[in-house]
Amino acid sequence: MDFISTRGNVAKIGFIDTFLMGLANDGGLMVPSSLPVIPAHRLKEWEQLSFQDLMLEIFLHFTNDEISRQDLKQLIDSSYSGFRHPEVTPLKEINGNLHILELFHGPTFAFKDVALQFIGNFYSYVSKKQGEIINILGATSGDTGAAAIEGVRGKEGIKICILHPHEKVSKVQELQMTTVDDENVLNLSVKGNFDDCQRIIKDLFADIEFKNKYHLRAINSINFVRILAQTVYYFYAYFRIAGKSPDAKVSFSVPTGNFGNILSAYLSKRMGLPIHRLILATNENNILERFVEEGVYMPEDFRSTYSPSMDIQVASNFERYLYYLLNEDASTVSAMMKQFQSEGKIVIEPQLLQKVQNDFAAHGVKNDECLRTIDKYSREAGYLLDPHTACGVAAYEACGSGDEVYVVLATAHPAKFDEAIRQNGIPQEFPAEIRALFDKPQHQSIVENSNREIADRLERFFGSK
Ligand SMILES: *Cc1c(COP(=O)(O)O)cnc(C)c1O
Repeated sequence: MDFISTRGNVAKIGFIDTFLMGLANDGGLMVPSSLPVIPAHRLKEWEQLSFQDLMLEIFLHFTNDEISRQDLKQLIDSSYSGFRHPEVTPLKEINGNLHILELFHGPTFAFKDVALQFIGNFYSYVSKKQGEIINILGATSGDTGAAAIEGVRGKEGIKICILHPHEKVSKVQELQMTTVDDENVLNLSVKGNFDDCQRIIKDLFADIEFKNKYHLRAINSINFVRILAQTVYYFYAYFRIAGKSPDAKVSFSVPTGNFGNILSAYLSKRMGLPIHRLILATNENNILERFVEEGVYMPEDFRSTYSPSMDIQVASNFERYLYYLLNEDASTVSAMMKQFQSEGKIVIEPQLLQKVQNDFAAHGVKNDECLRTIDKYSREAGYLLDPHTACGVAAYEACGSGDEVYVVLATAHPAKFDEAIRQNGIPQEFPAEIRALFDKPQHQSIVENSNREIADRLERFFGSK
């Protein structure tokens, strides 16, 4: 198995180099040169596996001989030992038609922990084994930053700098990031929105000289390993249902912003997991819904919503989907991305749009619809949804059909987004880990939305011993 860029100008490299490269050196995103397809009899065998053993089997299809089975097993087992649920990602049945896949039992109470606990340990492993300097640079709409910091805090040989949009993350998200006092952690609070943070990061990673000089590594979903780690819970959830009702048509509704979580679902399906339908759930920042409905990918004005982790206009993983949509034709992907840069939009032909609509249904959830959904499930099902998960449930209600079994991904614990829950007047008890954050001092620097100022900060932080 080797890896190439969606834009076709990176020579084939292995798994660990793909992990270290992050954004492809030609500005594209790394993808496997061909995806493995798991035969049905093997899927049947996997039905019995624990989350950890399933992850091991999936990863072994991608890691070549670069990591031994034993090392990989150890890395995976230690990554999930801190989760608060023995199943790691348990599936809760709400009614016969609807299940919630709880992805928030990791240390920062959001689904990002599932991939980033592993990635933190994997960076540590590569640093020790290959003597690589690991300087992690990432942008966050809130949850990635907290999970990434939690994944590497205090680890030797690793530094991490996270950019978040100033005053545009939830209070708990801010506290989770900034109350960490380990010296290998730097929080920059940028006077701008998430798209600004993401653009700065992309520019810095695209500056190959700067990237190499400071050994910059990525934790955003531009990193393929993160996408791969997120495929595991689709297999896991599917098997929970298939084990009980082998003939069920299993569909997923996925709250997504950067096209990361839903891309993992899409790749799982391409790898042979018989997913029936995929519903793409967004909020009022609905560029992806408009793309699925109209075939036009074009950012509009940024909106602040109750689901800030999905307040994203330019979805960094969209390019990976485009690559598969265009039958892995890297030169057309390059041309379209160039066009996007110059004209600010991508428009696809009607027959391609047909293909998109076969791959996804989509629904952009309005702010009041999100609150109504939280209220309804709290009253009728006794289940408190966080606002991102509520977008997934609202999209299932809008696009689902009666003869299928639906799994909605619960991407965060409601305590992380009490701002939205309080709007509904629903009281909630905070978990002790979250309550404790409010008493700790914060460490962060507020910076201008400027590549130069941020590059200077990074030179000082990563350049120092
Ligand atoms: C990051 C995040 C999302 C969106 O994930 P993508 O990778 O952008 O698809 C949804 N919900 C929550 C709570 C998140 O933290």
